Order: sequence, then C-alpha cells, then structure tokens
Amino acid sequence: MVKRVLVLGSTGSVGTQTLDVLSALATSHRVVGLAARRSADLLSRQAHATRPEAVCLVDEAAASALDLPDGCARLHGADGLVELVERTRPDVVVCAVTGAAGLPSTLAAAETGAVVALANKESLVLAGHLVKRAVQRSGGTLVPVDSEHSAIAQCLAGEDRGGVRRLVLTASGGPFRGRTRAELREVTVAQALRHPSWEMGPRITIDSATLMNKALEVIEACHLFDVPQELVHVVVHPQSIVHSMVEFVDGAVIAQLSPPDMRLPIRYALGYPSRVPSGQPPVDFTRLPTLTFEQPDRETFPCLALGERAARAGGLAGTILNAANEITVEAFLSGRLPFLEIATLVGEALDRFPSTPDPDLPTILETDAAVRRHVASRLPQPTR
Ligand code: MG
Repeated sequence: MVKRVLVLGSTGSVGTQTLDVLSALATSHRVVGLAARRSADLLSRQAHATRPEAVCLVDEAAASALDLPDGCARLHGADGLVELVERTRPDVVVCAVTGAAGLPSTLAAAETGAVVALANKESLVLAGHLVKRAVQRSGGTLVPVDSEHSAIAQCLAGEDRGGVRRLVLTASGGPFRGRTRAELREVTVAQALRHPSWEMGPRITIDSATLMNKALEVIEACHLFDVPQELVHVVVHPQSIVHSMVEFVDGAVIAQLSPPDMRLPIRYALGYPSRVPSGQPPVDFTRLPTLTFEQPDRETFPCLALGERAARAGGLAGTILNAANEITVEAFLSGRLPFLEIATLVGEALDRFPSTPDPDLPTILETDAAVRRHVASRLPQPTR
C-alpha cells in the first residue's frame, strides 16, 4: 500500500529534507499535501514536483505568487493548515512547522489516527499531554523526528519500559562550547548561526548556541517517553555521532549511532515501523572521529537548567519557557538583544508566570500570548 504523506512546513529545513527523502520513495510513498508559512515560490516549485492534492500557504498576503499545477486545491491561513490535515486523509503527517505556531496542526494530525512524524518539538513542550491524549483517542502513532528522540525511540523499540534506568540525551554543545560567560557577552548573530555539526534553520541554531534546544528536548523527552525530568540526563558529545542512549536497570546502555544527517530520523518516521534503505554507503568505523563526552556547562548556558526546571514544574511551564525564548531569540536575531539576555529574560518569565498543571488549549494559547507580550515589553527599545 502506498502511504499518503502530508508535509506541514515543507519549505523549511526539515520540510525540504523530507521531500528529498520522499523523492527516492516514489513506489511506497505519495505526497498528498504541502504547507508553508510564506515561501510561495518554493512551495509552488515543490507542488509542481510532487503533484499534491492540496497545498496551504498560511500567509495570505504572499498568495499572489503561488503558481500551482492543475487540480491542486489551495488553502490559506492557520485554519487552512488544519483543514489540509482533515481533507487529505494522510497516513503520515510530517509536522515540521517551526515554533508554537505548529501546535494546532499537530493536534489536528494527532486526531486523525495517522502516524504523526513530529519535528515540531514545541507541540510537546506546550501541550504534550493534549497531543498524547489525541493520539491515544484516535489510535494514531507519535514518531519523533528529532535526532535525539528518534534515537531513544529506536533504543526502546521492543523493550519493557520498566527496565529503563535513565535516558541519556546527547548535545553537540553548539558553536560556543568551551567559552566562558564573559566571552559570550559580545557574540554576534553570525557567530551564533555557525553550528559546528548540524545544518538547521536559524531559530533552532540559536537555540543550539544557548542550549535552549536541549532544554526543550528534555521536556519533549519527558512527554514522549513518560519519564520524570530526573531520569533525563544530558551529556555533551561534540561529534554528534551518538544521537542519544538508553541505560537500563541491568547496566546495559543502548545507543543509536550514525553520521549527523536529519534525513535518518525523517526516513525512520516515514517508514515506521519498517526501515527504509538510505542508499548511503555503510559506515566506515575506522574513519569515525574519536567520540568524546563531557558535562554540560550549566553556568555559561543557564537555559539548560531553566528547561530542566520547567520540565520538573510541568503544566504551563513549557509554554512560558518557549514563548519567552521565541521572543528573545527573534530580538537577538534582529540585533536588539545581547546573547546572554536571552536566558535572563526567559528566567524572569518563569519566575513571573505560574505553571498551572494540566492546562487546556485555550489556557495554553492565552498564556503563550501573555508571556510574549510581557517579554516584548522587557526588550531594550530600538535606538534611533
Ligand atoms: Mg534535536
């Protein structure tokens, strides 16, 4: 049976790599829908190449540049994303929208009973409990498309969860590994965007430089694998070859290794539960770099500890952490906020807003908006 695949966020980093993987899977997978925020040109080219049944461009203002093949329906707006999920009846939904904006479409995908290939970690950070309940109700399956969580899911396949002692999330350490706080005071956007081992979008690359990406991934892991924060251990592994590990109560450690390439977790989710051949040559172990592991520097990178705190608090804490981070990262990228202030303002937001347990979707969205407004009001005013 040919799998019907819907790609949300198809013009971003994970989206384009997903289409790259799918281009080699024409006999087993068919693209039935694509969605992008505002890259109308690229979305048009993708639609001509894959011939989907429908596409959605979220930003209506960019729609005049959309040029679609005959028979391809067009949708717009945030509601269009949800409608696209419902009308294309996909077997697999790749949720690769960036940020909290991806939550409504992830929830819609979770309600369909499809395999939800989840690259939008914010969906779990904000509303992991709601996403999991929706997947359970619909009989769907949640498969992470985050290299660390894909690794852990692969290590846990067929294992009794009662035998898990801890999950070990690896972190590359980002471009500023080994620096001191004083050295980070003056870092530029260009320096922060230069990631040593992974090719990713700008938001997640900055998150990788602050270690906020790992902080969000700790929360993501707690939701995905139903473990408390105390069982999620972070270790820095600069080579990004070991994508994460699971340690069991008998002392066995199972790791998933491969060269750093997002197309592996994408391929795993698209093929799930089967493995799909990559066409890559076998790994030459004699040519691998020496694999090293070190403690994360929580003093220089306070975002990691903030994330662990939010993971322990649960409830709305993930929403608060993420909203404050999205606003401060945007301000850093536009040159309005120094690098170290990202963590300071995120910490302030966590202190200020209560982490009410088991929030419903309206409460999550209201809190997300309130935190964004508050943090925006705390940003330095632009100089004229
Ligand atoms: Mg990751």
